Amino acid sequence: MFTTLRFGLTANRLHHATPDAALFAWLRACSATIRELGIELHTVGRAYDAILREGMLQGYGGLVRYPYGRDGGLMKVVARVTPPREGQESLDGAIYLIDPVDPSSIFPEMLALKRQCIAHGLPFISTLAGATEWMEIERVRAGLTPDPQADSLFDFGEQTLALIAHDALKREMVAFADRHFDLLSRFAQRVATGTTGGLLNDLAWSRGWPQGVPWVQRYLSGPLGGDAQIAELVLERRCRRVIFFEDPHVARQHEADIQLLERAVRVKTDYAMCATSPEVAQRWAVAVGKRDMAS
Ligand code: PGA
Repeated sequence: MFTTLRFGLTANRLHHATPDAALFAWLRACSATIRELGIELHTVGRAYDAILREGMLQGYGGLVRYPYGRDGGLMKVVARVTPPREGQESLDGAIYLIDPVDPSSIFPEMLALKRQCIAHGLPFISTLAGATEWMEIERVRAGLTPDPQADSLFDFGEQTLALIAHDALKREMVAFADRHFDLLSRFAQRVATGTTGGLLNDLAWSRGWPQGVPWVQRYLSGPLGGDAQIAELVLERRCRRVIFFEDPHVARQHEADIQLLERAVRVKTDYAMCATSPEVAQRWAVAVGKRDMAS
């Protein structure tokens, strides 16, 4: 038996409006893993109704209904990604398939959900590609054989990786890159915001990366436009993966730029993904190592 995993789940209207929408694409790709691991999906009302309407996850006891968004369903998910209070189950992460032009995608519920997930080191997953990958991560963590259909998400030699860290987390970013240097070096290309990138290049050179050859390509510092420059790479499908150590505990003068980058990732929902905390990035990297061994 596996430890029961519980994920909050919701999706903006676009992502469950039609049979080919992202929520159903995700379930088509991941239902087998969800059932096999018994992952509970704590699902906000409208997304829950849509799953039933499409006849997905039929007879699956792990599909749990929360109230509609307007009745506080998503607020309830936010409360449950915080550490458990006595007698209450807490969630292990949240999947919110975001349509960036849906006004509800910037309601306080979404912002608080992301922030609480980051603050507690839980995955906050907002794209189809990210949600599909994360089920594979859980599959591998649980010791199941990798799903070959997920292979293309792990073809790092074809991908560009963006690395960004806010000031209080820059040391953690350098430590993360040091720990997983070989894995991160497998990417076709690495890009970073200016200050983070400078520290990462110093690390690479100290580890024997050829002097004078940058390990990451540096863009402008985040507050000066680096986040926006990386957002453009994502929009052009020239950067698939963002590892962004966000500081949830300070006001950020360039909040708009941060959200712009995340929004760009969500525009490319079937392609791009973003990990937003050291704990989540670490869990991802360890699972990738495990997947390599098992493949
Ligand atoms: P920096 O930018 O790496 O230049 O500090 C990071 C950010 O705050 O977006």
